[in-house]
Amino acid sequence: MEPDLTKPVPVTQPWSQAFWDGTRDGKLLIQVCHACQAAIFAPRKRCPDCWSENLGWTESAGRGTVYAFSTAYSMVEPQFADELPYTIAYVDLVEGVRMMTRIVGCDPARITIGMPVEVTFTERADFRLPYFRPVTTNE
Ligand SMILES: [Zn+2]
Repeated sequence: MEPDLTKPVPVTQPWSQAFWDGTRDGKLLIQVCHACQAAIFAPRKRCPDCWSENLGWTESAGRGTVYAFSTAYSMVEPQFADELPYTIAYVDLVEGVRMMTRIVGCDPARITIGMPVEVTFTERADFRLPYFRPVTTNE
């Protein structure tokens, strides 16, 4: 029997729908707490700092730095074999939140902790997934 090579898509919740709608428009949205001004990710119903439910959305600059990463060169689920090598990372956005994501668009051997990255969107089914790539500079 052939394996099912369909890649999974995000499971949306009422409190994360705006995030995924934003990515479809090419925007990386993060929540903000109107009570204490905290920046929040991942999307949730209450502020993790002050428990307020008075939350809104703001567009991230889409830039940050690599906090941690791990690259798989083999042994992934069959539906992801076509994407090897495959780097998962935590990226610290300039707004002060940390996002689990992928690093794409470069040789994984070039990825370093603290490397500046910017968001890039990858289509999957009817979603656009926010991945990150190195910021190109003219050094
Ligand atoms: Zn708050």
